Amino acid sequence: MNAAVAQIISEAPIVSVQNVSRSFQNTEGGEINALSDVSFDLQPGEIVALLGPSGCGKSTLLNIIAGLQPADQGVVTVDGLHVTPRQMPTLGYVFQEDRLFPWRTALRNITFSLEAGSMPRAERDARAKKVLDLMDLTGFAKAFPHQLSGGMRSRVALARSLVLDPPILLMDEPFGRLDAQTRSQMHGEVLRLKQLLGMSIIFVTHDVDEAAVLADRVIVLEPRPGRIKRIQPISLPRPRSSSDREVIDYIRELKQLVG
Ligand code: ADP
Ligand code: MG
Repeated sequence: MNAAVAQIISEAPIVSVQNVSRSFQNTEGGEINALSDVSFDLQPGEIVALLGPSGCGKSTLLNIIAGLQPADQGVVTVDGLHVTPRQMPTLGYVFQEDRLFPWRTALRNITFSLEAGSMPRAERDARAKKVLDLMDLTGFAKAFPHQLSGGMRSRVALARSLVLDPPILLMDEPFGRLDAQTRSQMHGEVLRLKQLLGMSIIFVTHDVDEAAVLADRVIVLEPRPGRIKRIQPISLPRPRSSSDREVIDYIRELKQLVG
């Protein structure tokens, strides 16, 4: 392959969001402009954070990228595939609440993701066990969600998304309910797993420190109408800490933008 072709291929985005708009009716019959003309892309192997206050359309945007909701206008492609609710891409999705089934064990919560296909049960179990090992949950296959700590539940939710071996992971404020120390451990986990598995990540947060510690680029959104205020690259090596001097500079700048 010549260098120019390699360059073009390496620059093809894995997710492309072009001019996406979406509105909802409120209960009084008025219109809520959840997203207005939003465009950005995600390069292979990149971590992009979507940062903004509650109500600026972050979850709506993830749902449109996953094909769970249609856009009113605009186009989303994932790996070149035009996404619609009838054509959903393969990706992992960690929701804002962990959405674990309380009546299923950790192992059965993870195999759930594989049950829709034709994979034999033995293989489903083997794959789920492998991901449990990867997440340091080896002894907890038979534990129910109420028997797990907050951090462990987060790991099970992450494992459930990763068992599909997705090229892309969407994460919607996944660690919002954890204490600061556990949350910081989970940031380390996300970076370790990304290094190991090579997926690209869109990480939604309203927490400026979290965005600055994790992301290659931070997309700052503003509400009503939900739109992009700034795309801020963070060109610092990892691992980062929110007490590093250079990270603090970015945090200060992002805080001003978020207001
Ligand atoms: P965020 O995740 O940034 O908090 P959301 O994407 O959840 O924001 O919501 C953006 C806006 O769209 C909010 O004003 C919210 O109330 C509204 N909204 C989202 N989903 C619906 C829906 N299904 N019906 C009506 N309004 C909605
Ligand atoms: Mg949300």
